[in-house]
Amino acid sequence: MKKQISILGSTGSIGRQTLDVIRSFPDRFRVRALTGHKNAALLSEQVKAFNPELAVLTDPDSAQELSRLLAGCSTKILSGEEGLLEAAVYPGTDLLVTAVVGFAGLKPTLAAIDAGLDIALANKETLVAAGKIVTTRAAKKGVSIIPIDSEHSAIFQCLQGNNPRYLKRILLTASGGPFRRHTREELARVTPRQALQHPNWSMGAKITIDSASMMNKGLEVLEAHWLFDISLSSIDVLVHPQSIIHSLVEFTDGSVLGQLGPPDMRLPILYALSYPERLSNTLPKLDLIGRELSFFPPDKDRFPCLAYAYEAGEVGGTLPAVINAANEMAVAAFLGEKIGFLDIPGVIRKIMDLHQVIKEPDLDDIFSADLWARQSAERIIKGFMS
Ligand code: NAD
Ligand code: MG
Repeated sequence: MKKQISILGSTGSIGRQTLDVIRSFPDRFRVRALTGHKNAALLSEQVKAFNPELAVLTDPDSAQELSRLLAGCSTKILSGEEGLLEAAVYPGTDLLVTAVVGFAGLKPTLAAIDAGLDIALANKETLVAAGKIVTTRAAKKGVSIIPIDSEHSAIFQCLQGNNPRYLKRILLTASGGPFRRHTREELARVTPRQALQHPNWSMGAKITIDSASMMNKGLEVLEAHWLFDISLSSIDVLVHPQSIIHSLVEFTDGSVLGQLGPPDMRLPILYALSYPERLSNTLPKLDLIGRELSFFPPDKDRFPCLAYAYEAGEVGGTLPAVINAANEMAVAAFLGEKIGFLDIPGVIRKIMDLHQVIKEPDLDDIFSADLWARQSAERIIKGFMS
């Protein structure tokens, strides 16, 4: 029996790599539904190659263009958030890959959980913004959330066969990004072009900027906190510039296990798709001969976003959703050359200080906090520009 896979965000970096993996295993996987935002040309190629039953572009004009490109094709085409939600719960799906970027992933992920679908989760912002609600609903429904993020996949793999009650500490590795050695003065001058050049990974624009600011690691600390039900004080970040060890776990007896591999997202994606099986494949294999692996502590003064994420996690309630929204807005403004690189933490700090935290938020509170943070960020960004 082929595993039936649907992908939210199939036109993005993780989505395209997921389809690459699926292409190599035509006997194991079949694609049911695909979604993108605006890229009609790419989604049309994906539909022709994988023949899903449903294809969605959230942008309505782009969805019309997709209908023109696919005239005569049997695939149903939808648009808007309704389309995305329909794809999230597409009947017959065994595993939903959530590879949409940002807070936009929350609603469809919750819809899929409520429909009882297992999730292969790339969209970390969902867990950052509403980790408690998402994990509680998943547990109630008996739904598995299998991480795609390489660090979390590593931790998930290290925990297999081990009782989680013996887990003492997670060591989340971080490449340190392209500006690991930059001074604050140098960081103040970096351009979007420079920030988009990640030393080890090729990814979508938002996560690449998050990696450069180390907000990505902050988001991942919160992601790990929810996925593995571990306190923030038991999650440490370890800068490891080679991105070979994808993360480590320490058990109560002091034993440390890690997962290693070349920096290639297709391996954690394949693991999430095939779990609990392991499939042999033609992906590049790790050769450790001649490799030096090094480790450093993170510098939370030069990269304050990491400290802000820990702080938001400790305070809890609506604050993680707020820093996530503020970060999405600040990153978009930086990419649009409206603010400088160090204004990203500047915007986030201001919004954290302004926010009136709701301690036990329901979903409506999370959506209101997200909207409030976006509107506040817009105002603050305008102030930074003038
Ligand atoms: P990307 O920008 O390359 O792709 C994002 C996808 O989401 C695209 O298909 C896009 O069309 C869609 N999208 C964008 N805005 C949308 C909206 N408002 N509504 C619906 N769909 C929308 O991003 P990516 O690098 O593939 O990252 C996707 C997610 O995976 C992010 O949460 C990221 O943090 C996480 N992740 C990515 C990597 C990586 O290597 N790229 C690694 C680990 C985790
Ligand atoms: Mg990661």
